[in-house]
Amino acid sequence: MAARILSGKSVAESLHTRIQQVLARRAPDHKPPTLTALLPNDPSAQAYARAIRKQFSTLHLGYQAIRLEDTLDESEFQIILKRLAEDESVTGILALQPLPKGVSRGSLARLMPPTKDVDGVSFEQQGRLAIGSPWIAPSTPLGGLILLQHYGIEVAGRHAVVIGRSPVVGRPLALLLLARDATVTICHSRTPDLARLTRQADLLFVAAGHPHLVKPDMVAPGAVVVDFGVSVRDGRLIGDVDPAVAEVASALTPVPGGTGPVTTAVLALNLLRLAGLLEEHDFLPAAP
Ligand code: NAP
Repeated sequence: MAARILSGKSVAESLHTRIQQVLARRAPDHKPPTLTALLPNDPSAQAYARAIRKQFSTLHLGYQAIRLEDTLDESEFQIILKRLAEDESVTGILALQPLPKGVSRGSLARLMPPTKDVDGVSFEQQGRLAIGSPWIAPSTPLGGLILLQHYGIEVAGRHAVVIGRSPVVGRPLALLLLARDATVTICHSRTPDLARLTRQADLLFVAAGHPHLVKPDMVAPGAVVVDFGVSVRDGRLIGDVDPAVAEVASALTPVPGGTGPVTTAVLALNLLRLAGLLEEHDFLPAAP
C-alpha cells in the first residue's frame, strides 16, 4: 500500500483564505492584529520566526520580535511580559522555544497574560483545555486536527496513540483528541515496548523530537500517521517517522510540508480570536 500524502500546504492555504475573509470584514478603522514574538538565540526558533513573519506579512497581520538574551532570568522575563500585557498595540504574544535557561515552562505558564496568549501556554488556557473547554489551543496540535479534518479523516471513536507528552504538542494534542471523542493512549520516553502500543493505533501522532523513531513495523496496516517531529540532519529537515512507513500506513504527513505550515496558519487564526475577530471555528467554541 502506498500512503496518501497529507500535505499541509493546501490546508494552510484554505486557512489563509478564511483569515483574509475575516480581515476583510473588519471595520476600516480597526488596526490589523499584531503578534509579538519573544525570540531566543536559537537557529531553529529563528527559522520558525522568519516563517511566521513572512506569512503574517502576506496576510497583512502585524509582527514584531523581541530578542531574548541567553542570560535572561525570570524577573527580566516578567518585566517584558508585563510591559507587553499593558501595551494596547500588542494583540498576541508568542514565546518561541527553547526558552532561555533561566526561564522554565512553568514560569512561562504563570507569567503569560491569558488574553494575549496566542499559543495556549498560560495556566488559564491550559486549564480550559484540560477541562474540555478550550478557548485558545496550542497551534501545533490544533493544526494536526484541522489537517485531519481537511482530508476528511474521522477522529471520533478511533484509537489515537500519541508519542510525546510535552505541554507544547503531545499533552494538549491528547486533550484535543479526547474532546473530539477519540480513545487516547499517551506514550513517552519511559513507555516500555512502544511498538506494542503504536501497532494498536488507528491514528498515530508522533511528537518526540527523535528522528525516524517510528519504523514501518511499528505501524498497523492502514493506520493514519501524523508526524510533528522536526530535526535537522545534514542540513535537511527530517521528521520522527521513517518515510518507509508510507508503505504500511493509509495516510502520512510529510516532513517538511506537513504539520509545519498548518501550525503557522493556526497561529494567525488564534491571533484573530484574541483580537475578537473570530468567535467560533470548527474546533473551538465561542469566547467565554
Ligand atoms: P519535547 O519537549 O522534547 O518533548 C518530547 C516528548 O517526546 C517527551 O514527552 C518525551 O518523553 C517524548 N519522547 C522523546 N523520545 C522518545 C522516545 N524515544 N520514545 C517515546 N517518547 C519519547 O519536544 P516538543 O516540544 O514536544 O517537540 C516534539 C517535536 O515536535 C520536536 O521535533 C519539535 O521540533 C517538533 N515541533 C514541531 C512543530 C510543528 O509545527 N510541526 C511545532 C512544535 C514542535 P519524556 O516526557 O518522558 O521526556
